[in-house]
Amino acid sequence: MGAQGVQISSVNVDELLKMLNAALAEEWLAYYQYWIGARLMEGPMRSEIEPELLLHADQELGHAVLIVGRIIQLGGTPVTNPADWTKLARCAYEDPTDPYVEVILEQNLKGERCAIQRYKEIADFTVGKDHSTYQIAVQILNEELEHEHDIEDWLRDIARMKEELKKLRM
Ligand code: FE
Ligand code: FE
Ligand code: MG
Repeated sequence: MGAQGVQISSVNVDELLKMLNAALAEEWLAYYQYWIGARLMEGPMRSEIEPELLLHADQELGHAVLIVGRIIQLGGTPVTNPADWTKLARCAYEDPTDPYVEVILEQNLKGERCAIQRYKEIADFTVGKDHSTYQIAVQILNEELEHEHDIEDWLRDIARMKEELKKLRM
């Protein structure tokens, strides 16, 4: 960060860098979780859900771009070894061994809720102290909220469909 950049930030940079590197690791894991899940998934609404999951994957990668840029600006070292992703991340990677759409969506939903907590914490940590990181955290948080909402909608629709089918059989 430039001299004035350092001067205007009153945040504990070491602590912030730890949070940002954890977030960076989480974004890469979320990216792969969506990317592979979209390709494996089977079940109802496949043709609608698959492209949206791939879009979410791209958006997670966009989050990684924002975070890595800020880590470097703050004078930190972004995680360089993918082997460290699962060590740094608080959000677990969920191996999509069952490709049924509801299972894939539940895995993604857990990841989104974890990401929402992550960016809430970064926003809380930086609010009024590091405007630049704060703005990035809120920007990403808004997209994670959208992701969570999309997934909840699909899961509700699938649950509703199952109920309607049950009624038909009675
Ligand atoms: Fe993300
Ligand atoms: Fe997300
Ligand atoms: Mg979406």
